[in-house]
Amino acid sequence: MKKYPIMTINLKHMANNYRRVIEHCSQFGIAVSGVVKATGDVSKSYLDIADVMMQAGCIGIADSRLKSIIALRQDGFTDDIMLLRVPMLSELEDVVKYVDISMQSEPLVIAKTQALAALHNKMHRIILMMDLGDLREGFFDENELIETALTIESDCPNLKLYGIGTNLSCYGSIKPDTENLGRLVEIAKRVEQKIGRKLDVVSGGATTSLPLVYNGEIPAGINHLRVGEGALLARDLIDIWKIEMPGLYQDIYTLEGEIIEIKDKPTHPIGQLFIDAFGYRPTYQDIGVRTRALIALGKRDFGSLEGIVPVDPNIKIFGASSDHLIVDISECQPMPKIGDVVKFDCYYQAMVFCNHSPFVEKQYIK
Ligand SMILES: *Cc1c(COP(=O)(O)O)cnc(C)c1O
Repeated sequence: MKKYPIMTINLKHMANNYRRVIEHCSQFGIAVSGVVKATGDVSKSYLDIADVMMQAGCIGIADSRLKSIIALRQDGFTDDIMLLRVPMLSELEDVVKYVDISMQSEPLVIAKTQALAALHNKMHRIILMMDLGDLREGFFDENELIETALTIESDCPNLKLYGIGTNLSCYGSIKPDTENLGRLVEIAKRVEQKIGRKLDVVSGGATTSLPLVYNGEIPAGINHLRVGEGALLARDLIDIWKIEMPGLYQDIYTLEGEIIEIKDKPTHPIGQLFIDAFGYRPTYQDIGVRTRALIALGKRDFGSLEGIVPVDPNIKIFGASSDHLIVDISECQPMPKIGDVVKFDCYYQAMVFCNHSPFVEKQYIK
């Protein structure tokens, strides 16, 4: 008997999505690294998914955490791995041992990377990060970035200045546009003038830079993107940004939960309202008595409610606590029974949480 909850992961559709996105990007001279960081359980490596990405044409894979990168290496992954989060000093030794390319922004850390790379007799590539206004990682002063680039180029025999890059959207919610990415290209040109050679990589961001590719406005000179969500789920850009991305599947990740109770009950709680399981003071709409199903799934599995959408449009979500999800099944035809399975499409947060939850079984469709 199947054990729920289950997350099904359609690797065929994932391969299709990466192929489509890569095809589109290649028309603009842009290579893609596949971002695996949201796709796996910590107890096992992301090798299946990394293989899908490589076979679809990614130039390498990227992750933010050393633990999963080391697991991938131990499972035999030999292609390029990029570290997305600027490294901690405490993980730097593992960075030079297991990572080919790191994104960096601190001269002190870069100097130590050189020392450790020399110690382990490694060549390590670095992408210097420029903060273009999103205010997460990266040099804020472009002159500092250029100075650091020169230091790597001339004083660090075990480091290769691989390129420059930026990250937008994730913290500051800033949209990549021709102005901020145009500035990245200008800075890349200044670096290239100083070092007297072309940079390999000008990395113009993540999924949220794809709209500029799809509408043909990506500034010339950007030649690399790091793509996770845009191909793995293909939801944010299509559903929220309203970008046309033909040929992408949106059903790669589906969460399945089992019904454990069905009862007709009122919709407004009875008694004095106070705070819920997570300390919030929710409000409840009174729409009378409805047929409510309790599903054995909760915020511990999927995070916040905004991240899941019932596949059956007749099912509406009332709410959830840590281990219970409450839905309205009054409009369902036929009426579900105890033990039936309800399916949900996932947005990014739910995908990340479920993937990382040891309570959610993963089933790959190959
Ligand atoms: C997570 C991350 C990405 C990938 O983001 P998606 O939105 O999933 O494409 C790219 N770059 C960096 C630095 C990241 O942290």
